[in-house]
Amino acid sequence: MFFDPIYILLVAIPTAILTFWAQNKVKGTYRKYSKVQSTMGMTGAQVAQTILAKKGVRDVKVEPVAGELTDHYDPRAKAVRLSEGIYGSGSLSAAAVAAHECGHVLQDVEGYKFMNLRAALVPVVNLGSRMGPMLIMAGLIFNILNLAWLGVLFFATVLLFHVVTLPVEFDASRRALRLVDELGILQGEEHKGARAVLGAAALTYVATAFTAFLNLLYYIILINRRR
Ligand SMILES: [Zn+2]
Repeated sequence: MFFDPIYILLVAIPTAILTFWAQNKVKGTYRKYSKVQSTMGMTGAQVAQTILAKKGVRDVKVEPVAGELTDHYDPRAKAVRLSEGIYGSGSLSAAAVAAHECGHVLQDVEGYKFMNLRAALVPVVNLGSRMGPMLIMAGLIFNILNLAWLGVLFFATVLLFHVVTLPVEFDASRRALRLVDELGILQGEEHKGARAVLGAAALTYVATAFTAFLNLLYYIILINRRR
């Protein structure tokens, strides 16, 4: 199937272009605003600690993590982990990313419904992403189309997961931009820089969801050709 021209034209090439473009955009924007220092000069760690303290969150720690763009909030460990370039940096990128991760903390505290749904989908997706393609292939090889359609259903959970991720990420960024204004972490024009960084980051999630959609579409076309 991977030498199928439909696969190459419909999935492989668009996915490669989209992923490359989105990642380039993220890294470019991130690096651009990593060079711009905020007036307040708060480091990513200070931004996160300030937001958590002001919002009354006392049981979440802020710690450094290795790598670039590896920043995340771990709800089980109750930890906001900021990458090396964010943790100790006073740049606009650092403020934006640190505030975004705190956005996830506040979602967790409030029991934001899409975050809960996303967490509940994780085991389902792990199964669906492995079983889906296997069932589709088995269905096509043995010409049992119902089995192949069952595989499509399994694989559809992957798309669902990536679609549910979108409101979670957009909401965290919305909260972040509001927080940096509200708490005076960024001022005036600095807000635009933070918005650019978070906007670019959101693109990668859209690209991932679209890639899952193209894969699903391809499987549907593949089965339909058998009729
Ligand atoms: Zn996020």
